[in-house]
Amino acid sequence: MRQAGLAAQAMLSFVRSFITDRISALGLLSGEVDCEVWRFQMRLSFQETRNDPKAVVYTRCTIDLPSRDVRLEDVPCRNLEEVLGGFGRSFQILGERTIVNAFTPENPLIVNTGILTGSSVMTGLRTYFSAYSPLKVSAKGLPGAMWSAGSDKFGCKLRWTGVDELILEGRASGPVMIVLRRGSEGPTVEFKPADHLLGLSCHDKIMRLQKDYPQDAHFAVIGPAGENYEACYFAAVGLSTENQLKSGDDKCRWAGRGGMGSVMGYKNVIAIVAQAPDQMGKLKPEIRDINRESATGPGSRKFREKDKGGLGGTWAHYEVFNPNNLLPQDNFRPKGDDKPWLMSRTVVEPQFFIKAESCYRCGINCHKNVYDKTAEGGRGRFRAKFDYEPVNLLSTNLGIHDPNQGADLISLVDRLGMDSISVGTTIAYVLDYNERHPEKPLFNGARFGDFERVKELIEGTGRGRYPEIGRGVKRLSERLGDTAYAMQCKGLELPAYLPDTNPGYPWAIAGGHMSMATHLLYPAERDQSVDYWAKAITQRGLFQVRDDMLGICKFTIMSPDMAAQALKHEVGLEITTQELLATVRHAYIRGLWMERKQGFERSEYTLPSEVFDRPNSKLGLGGPFVTREFFSALSEKVWSVFDQELVNFTL
Ligand code: SF4
Repeated sequence: MRQAGLAAQAMLSFVRSFITDRISALGLLSGEVDCEVWRFQMRLSFQETRNDPKAVVYTRCTIDLPSRDVRLEDVPCRNLEEVLGGFGRSFQILGERTIVNAFTPENPLIVNTGILTGSSVMTGLRTYFSAYSPLKVSAKGLPGAMWSAGSDKFGCKLRWTGVDELILEGRASGPVMIVLRRGSEGPTVEFKPADHLLGLSCHDKIMRLQKDYPQDAHFAVIGPAGENYEACYFAAVGLSTENQLKSGDDKCRWAGRGGMGSVMGYKNVIAIVAQAPDQMGKLKPEIRDINRESATGPGSRKFREKDKGGLGGTWAHYEVFNPNNLLPQDNFRPKGDDKPWLMSRTVVEPQFFIKAESCYRCGINCHKNVYDKTAEGGRGRFRAKFDYEPVNLLSTNLGIHDPNQGADLISLVDRLGMDSISVGTTIAYVLDYNERHPEKPLFNGARFGDFERVKELIEGTGRGRYPEIGRGVKRLSERLGDTAYAMQCKGLELPAYLPDTNPGYPWAIAGGHMSMATHLLYPAERDQSVDYWAKAITQRGLFQVRDDMLGICKFTIMSPDMAAQALKHEVGLEITTQELLATVRHAYIRGLWMERKQGFERSEYTLPSEVFDRPNSKLGLGGPFVTREFFSALSEKVWSVFDQELVNFTL
């Protein structure tokens, strides 16, 4: 298995230079950032330069679910965060509310888009689901605000109905489906009973809906986990895809993190249908060039196929991480035994037919879809999409090293409609607990590698039979009084990057690797200094949330300049890169401000204590470095920056 070592080393150095190049391209090299310069300032000449936020008006559809009252209104933007959209807009609504329990009528579910969703910009496909999360929770027991993003065509269709933002208030009295259409006078809203969909998997719900809405429609649905929201706080929202509707294969995209599907389940909204003809604008030459760069340039290289000059997608992390024992294994505890390599693409590919596929109109083809191989070597039955996170967290990190079993578990989690990160990481804790406490095992007594029992735990969690798993690893570990190896920050389970190599996790505001881009820095740059990490968190990592406003996919890794050009040429919004960065920074600081508002205290911005107290000697690349002393010094430096901005923060 170590045969892959040399290739992996070559790839590691490639990744290192790739990330360094990217950071340079972003203009975010250490020391280049001046927070004073980036302070959000409204330009007086906005009106003349077509950049006055008030000149941008979006259509909000507010539905009071108990009464079915529908209010459609044109809302002028108050600031650039609202102009850009996504969580930049939804968090301003959430921030105005006092919510003490995620499952209350006062907690809205906000479904919105970014300014580039549904545009000609290639990956402008994002839909955002925002609410106070049942999963993210402060020590005071208050829910934290969250958003979760999903791709493919639902967001475009939503936009094309004429609705930019859907706010679901209250709770429907019975299972309901909301149908949004583009009418001659603007968007229309219809309510339909959804009892016939109950119990179906996300995929089966979508296939059923496609029969009823065969033309111009896309769908957002919850699965059994969302229906069992009281017992499952990490239910996802499944979004239909063009590929899924054409092939009939189970290929949803997901707004997975933070239990947005659970909130939708609480509201008794089983499905949202967005039906409208396509409205793609004429492709301008400038946007064509940006799209070409996104599809073939260095930003997306990691996610493209190797025969297209790429690194092979997120799954390729196996090739980079395994030689250095950086792959989560048996609950984030690499053993150095090379078993993780059995789930690498290198080993798996000969056994299956693998096809790189895409979201709607995307040329990056980051999906690595795994099919059975026919006797002739062709494409057989679709099995699962092998992204790094689900592969690792539903196989290697559970001690399972068989790709057939891994594919079955990924597919099962998708059918039930759960966040693979949260369910995988919580079950890894259960297995770890059972190894450590053989005299009093939890649930069915499953141990690492016990596929059948793990499968039963997943099925039971999605069906509501294991609420202690479904409510996440923070609550479970606290109830057991055994929190050291519960891999979570602020109630959100960690993604598949070792906390031992990412001290930036606690400052992620909406999930560990999607709202703080520090998870890949250690393999790339190997810096163990406090100053480096303080800058990584306060000057680089947080800017990852930009794309959760714009509506584009993070995998394009678009430079600020490219993003500003896209805004200028696609929607006529002229904004400098500095203004764009200042807007993103302000939106991130708002996220921290909202955490404070919900009671999160400084002591909660920490890592699982096992990282400090039981350093793993197997870790490569210089070994463990995140000691208590290191983290304490880092925390001081990070808060010295953010505290100042929080004091000066203006809504
Ligand atoms: S890069 Fe991947 S996830 Fe992003 S839009 Fe393209 S295919 Fe979808």
